[in-house]
Amino acid sequence: MDTKPRILVVDDRPQNLYAMEQLLRALNVEVVPASSGAQALALALERDFCVAIVDVQMPEMDGYELVELLRGNESTANLPVIFVSAIFSDEYHHRKGYDAGAVDFLSKPFVPEILISKVRVFIDLYQQRRRLQALFAEVLSLNEELEDRVRQRTAALEKAYRDLELLDRNKSDFIQVIAHELRTPLTLIRGYSQMLLEDAEGQGDKDNLQQVRGIVTGADRMHGVVNSMLDMVRIESGTVRLDFQPCTICELIRSVHGSLEQVLSQRHLVVTFEPGLDDLPRVEVDPDSIQKLFEQLLLNAIKYTPDGGSITVSGHPDGQAIEIVVGDSGIGIAPEVQELIFTKFYQTQRSTFHSTSKTKFKGGGPGLGLAIARGIVGIHNGKIWVESPGHDEETCPGSQFHIVLPLQQKTSDLSS
Ligand code: ADP
Repeated sequence: MDTKPRILVVDDRPQNLYAMEQLLRALNVEVVPASSGAQALALALERDFCVAIVDVQMPEMDGYELVELLRGNESTANLPVIFVSAIFSDEYHHRKGYDAGAVDFLSKPFVPEILISKVRVFIDLYQQRRRLQALFAEVLSLNEELEDRVRQRTAALEKAYRDLELLDRNKSDFIQVIAHELRTPLTLIRGYSQMLLEDAEGQGDKDNLQQVRGIVTGADRMHGVVNSMLDMVRIESGTVRLDFQPCTICELIRSVHGSLEQVLSQRHLVVTFEPGLDDLPRVEVDPDSIQKLFEQLLLNAIKYTPDGGSITVSGHPDGQAIEIVVGDSGIGIAPEVQELIFTKFYQTQRSTFHSTSKTKFKGGGPGLGLAIARGIVGIHNGKIWVESPGHDEETCPGSQFHIVLPLQQKTSDLSS
């Protein structure tokens, strides 16, 4: 690639052109001679020069006219011009030259070193500009490459997201099919095991009674899991049957608490209802769903709090909403999973390591409880989140589940 900077030398006298070429040889440049203004203009338009050295007096088109024409053209407007003149070396002509757009003026006879050093400045400037242009082009191409990569990555992400959505839909379909298929045989198992239990109780055979109780508990547990799966499917598909009505939240929570009293006393856990809870304004909710929500939160509080711990339910009005907090003195939840636990099938402990129980300490479930809880709160246009200093099974820092429910539902939501 020819990278030598070019210098345009314009003079109507061949001997001057020759002398200038000889002089500029000292620099590593290509000297392009032009014997008239017209020729110089044509050359400047088709090639790139770092500086033009122009004789002022020339027939037909003099140096001033040439520079004016150069300035008038976009591609040559910035070409630096040094005027050289033997006759017009007075101040008036110098000024005229600068007005025409020259960047320098040399009177003949000039000191060759001065011309060389001036030209060198323009060569340096030109080379710097070229380097900047090359750098700019590189930045542009890098930028394009980057944009291209971002486009590719975005497309890949979009595809992955679509695939995930499809997988999730397949998973939901699968859950729905399984849950429906399991429901009928489970109803049979539960019915017959209940009959077996009654017989065993009548016979008074202790071993037999214990075994049958095991079957009944297992079937009930399975029934609960299948119901959770169906709840999840209904929430996701928006087919939950809702009956919104003004309710006293505290009454709903107390009724759930009543159904858990036996378990609470087995685990030596105390539930405290903070003052203020009974004074909360009534809220428009679907009572069945809200009971399910608080049953889930209380069951989790029971499961993740060691025996002898405490559970607290508090609440306060919050503008056009109420906020309820279900707190426990349990093992707590690490900050990095506090959002994840609300996604379906998420469990903080591996399912192979925990005992599956609804109420035993750390007795894990299928990881649907909080996903259902968030779904129920979502249906009510509310918010649910957890706050906890972290997870520690020794110090038990506890967790607080916050639920915000609006006092009233929008009329458009009530028709569902
Ligand atoms: P699971 O069926 O596993 O209990 P959930 O959706 O109810 O599923 O809860 C998801 C995870 O969140 C649980 O596996 C548990 O690790 C964590 N978790 C939920 N509630 C509490 C709590 N009160 N204290 C500590 N951890 C909790």
